[in-house]
Amino acid sequence: MKIAVLPGDGIGTEIMAEAVKVLNVLDLKFETETALVGGAAYEAHGHPLPEATLKLAKDADAVLFGAVGDWKYDKLDRPLRPEQAILGLRKNLGLFANFRPAICYEQLVGASSLKPELISGLDILIIRELTGDIYFGAPRGRRTATDGHFPGAEEAFDTMRYSRPEIERIAHVAFQAARKRSKRVTSVDKANVLETFQLWKDVVTEVGAQYPDVELDHMYVDNAAMQLVKAPKKFDVVVTGNMFGDILSDEAAMLTGSIGMLPSASLNGSTQGLYEPSHGSAPDIAGKGIANPLATILSAAMMLRFSLNQPQTADRIESAVKDVLASGLRTADIYSDGTRKVGTREMGDAVVAAITKKTTKG
Ligand code: NAD
Repeated sequence: MKIAVLPGDGIGTEIMAEAVKVLNVLDLKFETETALVGGAAYEAHGHPLPEATLKLAKDADAVLFGAVGDWKYDKLDRPLRPEQAILGLRKNLGLFANFRPAICYEQLVGASSLKPELISGLDILIIRELTGDIYFGAPRGRRTATDGHFPGAEEAFDTMRYSRPEIERIAHVAFQAARKRSKRVTSVDKANVLETFQLWKDVVTEVGAQYPDVELDHMYVDNAAMQLVKAPKKFDVVVTGNMFGDILSDEAAMLTGSIGMLPSASLNGSTQGLYEPSHGSAPDIAGKGIANPLATILSAAMMLRFSLNQPQTADRIESAVKDVLASGLRTADIYSDGTRKVGTREMGDAVVAAITKKTTKG
């Protein structure tokens, strides 16, 4: 087994060090190779996704990714910006299904901005299509308007598009994931206004007919955004397009208290996948040693489950994280009165200690 480790920028290097530390105490036979990506790669090689990094990722069984980006790169041409590395990896590895679980740990119920009764026991899975939609549709660009409300004015435009096979494959992923959970899928669209999402709704309905044991409902994205804060526990698996998924998965992440807790997996049709925390490179806290490494550690657990066929080892990591939270340790983002504030490294050490303790006991 080979894992490509791409720490990236900002807090990426700090949180990745903790995830690798955790992987190293698991007694698994795997090889890791680290490479530069994002702004760090741009500084060293003039490109956010150098050929060597891409080759490493393609050849690996799984990619463990930190985060990329910094405001100092905002003035670069778009293809050279750090975030392009993620898009390049998704495209080149054919990663079309993004799994973003939003789980509220019992010990962190108080960290959510919602009332405890709304959030306690929350466990939803947002499945976002990653390769289509308005983020990739062509044509796009800037031009002088020849029609519309202001002919002659500068305008910008993007194209929203989805093909039937793209919708079919993500719908299958969602129904299959639901079969392993409580057999409910909510498909989120904007079919009342957009042709693209009328096709989305039609195709998801057709695919749903092949899964009679899974309950399917449809919801407009504006209503879904409301329901997520009104009654989030009503959802189980949510499947949606690239842009709506981008927004709703961040909303769902914050329901659980901190984006620093939430892992994600991006999968292609095989077992190969890219695993990363749901958050970005957090330049505001980078270098301070206070970032929460748990989302990255939990992403490593997802990697063991989905790409490396080690579900029991994944369980061990997740259970160690619960033990650490139960012991009262908190990074600043999830700190509350009565708990003990720790830094990034101390949190990683605590997870390692919890795994080691259980192994010794077992
Ligand atoms: P962000 O997720 O980096 O940070 C948002 C807020 O959450 C900040 O206040 C930050 O301090 C906090 N935060 C994030 N992760 C945390 C953690 N592990 N522990 C504690 N607090 C944490 O989003 P942003 O500020 O909008 O973007 C910063 C940079 O990251 C930008 O350059 C953006 O493009 C990039 N970005 C990268 C990815 C990625 O690499 N996948 C995703 C989103 C944003």
